[in-house]
Amino acid sequence: MDIRLDGKTALVTGGTRGIGRAVTLGLARAGADVCACYRTESDAVESLARELKTTGGDHRLIKADVADPAEVTRLIEECGSAFGHLDVVVSNAGAISHIPFPDLELDEWRRIIDTNLTGAFTVTQQALPLLRPGSSLIYIGSKVAMVGLPLRAHYTASKAALVGFARTLCKELGPQGIRVNVVAPGIIDTTDLPSERTAQYQRIISLGRLGRPEEIAGVVAFLASDLASYITGETINVDGGT
Ligand code: NDP
Repeated sequence: MDIRLDGKTALVTGGTRGIGRAVTLGLARAGADVCACYRTESDAVESLARELKTTGGDHRLIKADVADPAEVTRLIEECGSAFGHLDVVVSNAGAISHIPFPDLELDEWRRIIDTNLTGAFTVTQQALPLLRPGSSLIYIGSKVAMVGLPLRAHYTASKAALVGFARTLCKELGPQGIRVNVVAPGIIDTTDLPSERTAQYQRIISLGRLGRPEEIAGVVAFLASDLASYITGETINVDGGT
């Protein structure tokens, strides 16, 4: 049974790098027209545009900071003008920093919450009028939100909050045929980790290796598809068994 998204349109926030890039490409290769937003101009945007051309679908790459509500308004307007509606919204944009709790300043707490949680709220609320019955909202959470991780009180708080947010939206939006789920990655290989750190991680992962961005993208594509038409309110850990 293939995952196909032909005729669907998708928005992926933070969709030009790392996990977001894999998600954007995964959805496009499954047949969706995709809009990906990014915050920073870089070669990643050009290179993604080239790859998306090979998928045959329509695509838009739009610069927008999800922590800025006015930019989100413009982003959603551009998606609406391009596609007329949205079937899939993946709130993937995320920021992290590593700070001992006593040193965590309010500004930094707010920066992380504004991006990871308030950004997801703003994008979702503004996208709502473009959603149709059968639409799928997907939030990229984090496995560590449920177990805790030293130096990331702000990050884990933002990601844990997404789970409650999604469970409530599942109940509010279910009657409109909109599904809402969280994908919670474990340790995914998106950065050049030092080899000793990689080895440390491998020891605590049952499958003995870090995850690949495409392994998150596969689960997102499944949740976006009609194969997942009876799944809502779930948090799916994709962590290799940690
Ligand atoms: P990266 O740091 O590689 O990418 C983060 C992405 O978010 C970038 O595309 C970045 O855009 C975008 N972004 C950050 N802030 C904003 C903003 N204010 N507005 C718009 N876009 C923004 O991270 P990953 O790919 O590793 O992570 C993607 C998601 O997965 C995040 O939510 C992260 O918390 C989560 N996650 C990752 C794990 C991992 O091991 N990698 C584990 C668990 C969860 P730009 O480059 O344009 O600045």
